[in-house]
Amino acid sequence: MQIAADSVVSIDYTLKNDEGTIIDQSQPGQPMDYLHGHRNIIPGLENALLGKSVGEAVEVRVEPAEGYGEFNPSLEQVVPRERFQGVENLEVGMQFQASTEQGPVSVRIKALEGDDVTVDGNHPLAGQHLNFSVTVQGVREATEEEKAHGHIHQGGGEGGCCGGGGGEGQGGGEGGGCGCN
Ligand code: ZN
Repeated sequence: MQIAADSVVSIDYTLKNDEGTIIDQSQPGQPMDYLHGHRNIIPGLENALLGKSVGEAVEVRVEPAEGYGEFNPSLEQVVPRERFQGVENLEVGMQFQASTEQGPVSVRIKALEGDDVTVDGNHPLAGQHLNFSVTVQGVREATEEEKAHGHIHQGGGEGGCCGGGGGEGQGGGEGGGCGCN
């Protein structure tokens, strides 16, 4: 079976930046499962996997625009330290919710210098090329419920739902048993 829209796909993957540093990877024996064609993973990787079958290995270098977006300098701001009242020890890498005109945005502290705090609202991987090494471990057709929800259910949709850690096989009723959107 080849990967197509509405396939549930299991992949082992390693993600490296252009320096060769591993940014993320699946653990041995614990592939990542996703529903193909529903934008559950970044577009560049999803496109590269289309038409592949179990056992195939895929190497793909994803452009920022097909990954986590280009780096947007306007999302980086220097704000005075006094804006962080109540935070004991500011550190580079800390995350905060900033309220903006567009709603809450997650920002990270990128630099600290005296009273100047540089915050960055870009995704940490924005502007980076993403080098994926992927092996397809499994492909199956999604259940009707999974297709309707746009995501996978653990255990093939027969009771387990949405990776919530709820007991597998707890007989949830049709529809009503699923706590997801
Ligand atoms: Zn669901």
